[in-house]
Amino acid sequence: MGRRHVGKRDAKDIAKERIESLFKLAEHEARFGDFRRSRRYVSLALRMGERHKVRAGHKRTYCPECLVFFVPPKNVRVRTGRGWVSMTCLDCGHISRYPIRPGR
Ligand SMILES: [Zn+2]
Repeated sequence: MGRRHVGKRDAKDIAKERIESLFKLAEHEARFGDFRRSRRYVSLALRMGERHKVRAGHKRTYCPECLVFFVPPKNVRVRTGRGWVSMTCLDCGHISRYPIRPGR
């Protein structure tokens, strides 16, 4: 039942689940393991997201430069200002700034 209609949508759902679990692994490695492995999981997740055209909805939880998963305050410094937040990667020094949307 339900198996006959395995189409693109299902493949996407599977990809999304895999991406989720890759990010969980990335977080775990950043927390308890090593950053190199964390980066690998993040890049795998991103690649999978690209291949399946799935948004890996996890921007801001990893460094856009070195791809390590952010675990504050261990490897990222988060500062907020008026309408923005900046995240400094303590591993590679990359600073990213994002606007904060009101009401979120
Ligand atoms: Zn970095």
